[in-house]
Amino acid sequence: MESFRFETTLPVSHRSQVTVVGGGPAGVCAAIAAARSGVQTLLIESSNCLGGMATTGGVNPFMTCYDKDGGQMIIRGLFEEIVERLIARGGALHPGTVPAGEAFSSYIVVGHNHVTPFDPELLKVVLDEMCAQAGVQVLFHTSFVSPVLEGNRITGLIVSNKAGLQLIAADAVIDCTGDADVAFRSGVPCEMGDEASGRIQPATMFFRIGNVDLKKVDADIEANRDNFFRRNGINYRSFHWRVSEAREQGDWNLQRVSIGMFRGVREDEFFINTSRIMGVDGTNPVSVSEAEMEGRRQVQHIFAFLKKYVPGCENAVLMSTPAHVGIRETRHIRGDYVLTSSELLSGQIPDDCILLAANSVDVHGRFGPMSNEYVAIDGSCYGVPYRCLVPSGISNLLVAGRCVSADSEAAGAIRVMPPCMGMGQAAGAAAALALNSNVSMRDVNIHELQQALREQNVYLG
Ligand SMILES: Cc1cc2nc3c(=O)[nH]c(=O)nc-3n(C[C@H](O)[C@H](O)[C@H](O)COP(=O)(O)OP(=O)(O)OC[C@H]3O[C@@H](n4cnc5c(N)ncnc54)[C@H](O)[C@@H]3O)c2cc1C
Repeated sequence: MESFRFETTLPVSHRSQVTVVGGGPAGVCAAIAAARSGVQTLLIESSNCLGGMATTGGVNPFMTCYDKDGGQMIIRGLFEEIVERLIARGGALHPGTVPAGEAFSSYIVVGHNHVTPFDPELLKVVLDEMCAQAGVQVLFHTSFVSPVLEGNRITGLIVSNKAGLQLIAADAVIDCTGDADVAFRSGVPCEMGDEASGRIQPATMFFRIGNVDLKKVDADIEANRDNFFRRNGINYRSFHWRVSEAREQGDWNLQRVSIGMFRGVREDEFFINTSRIMGVDGTNPVSVSEAEMEGRRQVQHIFAFLKKYVPGCENAVLMSTPAHVGIRETRHIRGDYVLTSSELLSGQIPDDCILLAANSVDVHGRFGPMSNEYVAIDGSCYGVPYRCLVPSGISNLLVAGRCVSADSEAAGAIRVMPPCMGMGQAAGAAAALALNSNVSMRDVNIHELQQALREQNVYLG
């Protein structure tokens, strides 16, 4: 690639103790936790709202926050507070009332007990409100461009927005971009997808439909319950009998064998998680631009299929496609510890645990483009170590959300939204502790951090 060098002088637009980059599930919780711990907090977000994939990506529902047997809600803290605030506005159903195998979980059972359907428009408002109440300053339409480094510390962040390039002077930074943009550009080693196998999870463009007749949809599922099975690594989910029919008629040309169709809070509203775009590099703007167009093309194809083949969708309306194609996987940082799927599947809980979760490994396309498989954990839950949030090489940076230090399969479990919120909350609390005790992120006292998290309603066993 050709290059061009330029030097310029930038205005210092903001100074903050903690700057959180990215306002998705992880970033919002990091910012709120830091601000509530008494440190001045700035959150920068490239889109126009908070929530990340939950709002701009159209992803729904929040995956399970319960232990494996569905007996206890184990992801609590800020996640639970967000859900309670949504429920108070009629914008979510409590996960305790949502069993697996029904429309809310696209009729899937494995790993889908107690999901949380939510209204993304009300989520935007709830997150705005929580940040404002906590004293987080939010800068929308602002993208991180580059770090300013002095030795092993980040002293500032160059950002871009309508005012041009500007510098934010920061004492501590939390990277919640999903893609580890800050860590990567600060020289932290990262792995892209699963480099050993050359696999990266496919992208999906969600879409939202309304005016669906739920009773008719449920009836077709009931009539075909016996058809739900797994073969050759392919998890046949709902409506594969309808997909086969459409394929035979020449009305289906996508690399999917079934439909992910998740009921929303309203009875007639569904979120469709079915399109599949292989080989997308979420850190490459050309690749993402192509994926946005291919995603929209597939949405039209799937919507036409739903109306023609799925009973109950005859009069459905396409309500929205998202502002950003869904990116499941890009970079995983290499931090002080790399969480592996074998630890997670066997239910290990480390001494520096900052989050308990029971989400199963969900790696799409593992056995080729048509495949999908959930690998459920053996124990009742597993722990995420604080060390996975601590990147190699930079002393005042933490990373939270889907790009933490985990192998590709382990990341395939903890990438879902409730664990991302939990990791974000832990990062925010840890950054505040580090600043207040004048130590590096790596040297945060883990017992004090765990105590602080317990006081914030985080369940650590
Ligand atoms: C197709 C698909 C289906 C999924 N299904 C589910 C599901 O059913 N349930 C579930 O719980 N989870 C699901 N997930 C997983 C989940 O949505 C994401 O993994 C999760 O949202 C990650 O949270 P995050 O905060 O790490 O990142 P994100 O949600 O990606 O948020 C990152 C935020 O950072 C901002 N940002 C990025 N770069 C910059 C920058 N340089 N400067 C400023 N801002 C920046 C982005 O605009 C975004 O708001 C799904 C994901 C996908 C893609």
